[in-house]
Amino acid sequence: MTKILSGKEVAAALKDKLTAEVDELKKQGKVPGLCIVMVGDRPDSASYIKGAVKRCTSIGIDCQVETFPEDISQEKFLEALDRLNQDSKINGVIIMRPLPDQISEDALKYAIAPEKDVDCFNPINVSKVMSGDEDGFPPCTPSAVIEILDHYGIEIKGKRAVLIGRSMVVGRPLAMMLLKRNATVTICHTRTKDLAQEAKRAEILIAAAGKAKMVTKDMVNEGAIVIDVGINFENGKMCGDVDFDNVSPIAGQITPVPGGVGSVTSTVLAKHVIKAFKLQQGL
Ligand code: NAD
Repeated sequence: MTKILSGKEVAAALKDKLTAEVDELKKQGKVPGLCIVMVGDRPDSASYIKGAVKRCTSIGIDCQVETFPEDISQEKFLEALDRLNQDSKINGVIIMRPLPDQISEDALKYAIAPEKDVDCFNPINVSKVMSGDEDGFPPCTPSAVIEILDHYGIEIKGKRAVLIGRSMVVGRPLAMMLLKRNATVTICHTRTKDLAQEAKRAEILIAAAGKAKMVTKDMVNEGAIVIDVGINFENGKMCGDVDFDNVSPIAGQITPVPGGVGSVTSTVLAKHVIKAFKLQQGL
């Protein structure tokens, strides 16, 4: 029978471990701090922030949210980031994107101190993911996928992993992380000639395309591990990139949507903040 890879279960186990770590730090009077930065008022960002603050606070991290007006100038925004970089109580900074047009992401990328850049915005962290330097911070979503595979004891080494999607926030960094763990990695995208054939070769198939139910059962090898990163809405109902009802009888193990990868990301954010705190404190 197909095994469901429950993101909720992974997040709960990771939360317990992190809470114990923060409890230990608190005994020494040390508290990791996170600042989430939002420009304007996007409902999707607001809902992510609510979840992240709830999760990080429950682990014992000090959380603050800095909201700036939609029309803030790039100069003022850079000044604000510099202030956060200097603030010793803040160990991790995450900027909600997309940003308004007057703020250039290219100008901003280097502005968050790499040691506080817990969601891999700064090119220094991107390059650390590329080179496999584990002192850096990969984006939280690919880290969440690795957490799920590790939690369920799924061997990555030597496996044929196929990713659908090559974005800088999911597909590419995840490909590098799987490569670091000695998978044989194929990255598919919109110009891939025969997606079904590529996908069908996967022992670990990861869908991160943002297209509702695009992974159909003819694209999945019997017994494959299927990880669905997609978050889509069909008739107001959340669904992934995988046609779960038809694929799950074929897959060996599969993540659901909701309740899969998305359930792990805010706990991974907390993990990155604690890691940042420890690196900054030389612990
Ligand atoms: P994106 O739009 O930046 O990238 C999508 C990628 O998929 C592109 O590289 C594109 O080439 C590829 N793609 C799109 N349609 C394709 C097709 N038909 N065939 C092959 N390749 C195709 O998206 P993203 O930011 O990487 O996000 C991908 C999905 O993951 C979205 O549904 C997003 O909502 C979701 N997501 C989930 C989480 C989470 O926490 N679970 C976090 C981030 C993103």
